[in-house]
Amino acid sequence: MKVLVAAPLHEKAIEVLKKAGFEVIYEEYPDEDRLVELVKDVDAIIVRSKPKVTRKVIEAAPKLKVIGRAGVGLDNIDLKAAEERGIKVVNSPGASSRSVAELAIGLVFAVARKIAFADRKMREGVWAKKQCMGIELEGKTIGVVGFGRIGYQVAKIANALGMNVLLYDPYPNEERAKEVGGKFVPLEELLRESDVVTLHVPLVETTYHLINEERLKLMKPTAILINAARGAVVDTDALVKALQEGWIAGAGLDVFEEEPLPKDHPLTKLDNVVLTPHIGASTVEAQMRAGVEVAEKIVEALKG
Ligand code: NAD
Repeated sequence: MKVLVAAPLHEKAIEVLKKAGFEVIYEEYPDEDRLVELVKDVDAIIVRSKPKVTRKVIEAAPKLKVIGRAGVGLDNIDLKAAEERGIKVVNSPGASSRSVAELAIGLVFAVARKIAFADRKMREGVWAKKQCMGIELEGKTIGVVGFGRIGYQVAKIANALGMNVLLYDPYPNEERAKEVGGKFVPLEELLRESDVVTLHVPLVETTYHLINEERLKLMKPTAILINAARGAVVDTDALVKALQEGWIAGAGLDVFEEEPLPKDHPLTKLDNVVLTPHIGASTVEAQMRAGVEVAEKIVEALKG
């Protein structure tokens, strides 16, 4: 059987496929026309957020049985076309949870201790000691909005740091909450009580602009907002206003309503914001886990 790997994949994942006896063809991010040629006789395709597996590609692959996405989002795969053909789609949703959680906590530290700001000043030759007064995290309250895979990891780290953990999720898992010393509260209460609010919800209709002007106004003026979920979970215009006018103290953002974040965006002008270019899952460990998990699922789907 033949597997087309159409995006960079960890070598351990390739090993899993080869050990299972599959022939592996590798080509990085082929465009649609090239993909159509490549899929003619393959049993499986592995992609990441690219390339696009369109209906045209699926229709050109008569032997195709499974599409693997090393990572989470499936928006580059025509799921309807796959379903119509009975093609299985597999991904690795848990592979990057710890990495995203560690980045979120990293952003909390970076904002709370003004690390990025201080670094910028150092490079300008400015010893900005007086402007870099920060806060400690121990004893502070963190509000985790969305207590799923990533939210759980964030809460676990925050608990280990000695923070009080508040949780909000429409499907509260009390068992897991106990493990991290967390308490479920209504969203409004979480926003009012937390020194740090961190978002870990999926982007769906009910979470679009979940954090809007009204909710930002509920937060403490000393609070920090972290978004490593999806840009559109926060109303960016309202957030810029909140940061400019001091409704909240700072923000750490890994995701944006428009990515890449446009050059000269108002967020880039604010000293109380730390920005990273959607790197939550960008660790060696997460990439390896994502690749291996998807390769194992492909083996299972083709052989099982
Ligand atoms: P998950 O499905 O395990 O958890 C999401 C949780 O959010 C669930 O418990 C769900 O009940 C809850 N939820 C749904 N609607 C909600 C609402 N309105 N209010 C509060 N909670 C709500 O997902 P996960 O693996 O923890 O990932 C969370 C999100 O993180 C993903 O959907 C993705 O958008 C984002 N993510 C970002 C990166 C990055 O690079 N920054 C990487 C991976 C995932």
